Amino acid sequence: PPDVEQLGRATWTFLHTTAAYYPEKPTPNQRANMLTLIRSLPVLYPCTHCASDFGEEVKKSPPDVSGRVGLSRWLCERHNEVNEKLGKSKFNCAVEKLDERWKDGPDD
Ligand code: FAD
Repeated sequence: PPDVEQLGRATWTFLHTTAAYYPEKPTPNQRANMLTLIRSLPVLYPCTHCASDFGEEVKKSPPDVSGRVGLSRWLCERHNEVNEKLGKSKFNCAVEKLDERWKDGPDD
């Protein structure tokens, strides 16, 4: 079985980074592909209990693929649901905090 922690860190890195660089105004094709990417996780993610819990959360909170700010926040909230389940601290989902972590890096 996969290393669930290492797989998780790698997957969150991919997802948050992709959201941070997603267009402000995505084309219909970009939106459709982002929806497909998100909806693939409950089907394909190789931690099966992670995948099915994530699928339930996505049903409760449909993905916001309208643009990078909405998508980044949506994903942050889903990640916080996992953090809460695992007893980890929650991340501040303000776009400035998300961009600092996943796009721009800290000011210096
Ligand atoms: P991670 O949680 O991997 O976070 C990596 C980095 O992301 C953090 O260091 C922080 O800088 C940043 N970050 C933290 N929270 C947020 C946020 N809300 N928004 C933006 N950035 C943030 N593990 C299980 O044991 N059970 C599960 O059911 C489970 N479900 C998962 C479902 C999915 C879809 C994914 C991708 C992973 C899942 N995992 C699950 C793995 C788990 O979320 C962690 O990745 C793993 O426990 C390693 O945690 P970590 O403390 O290294 O940091």
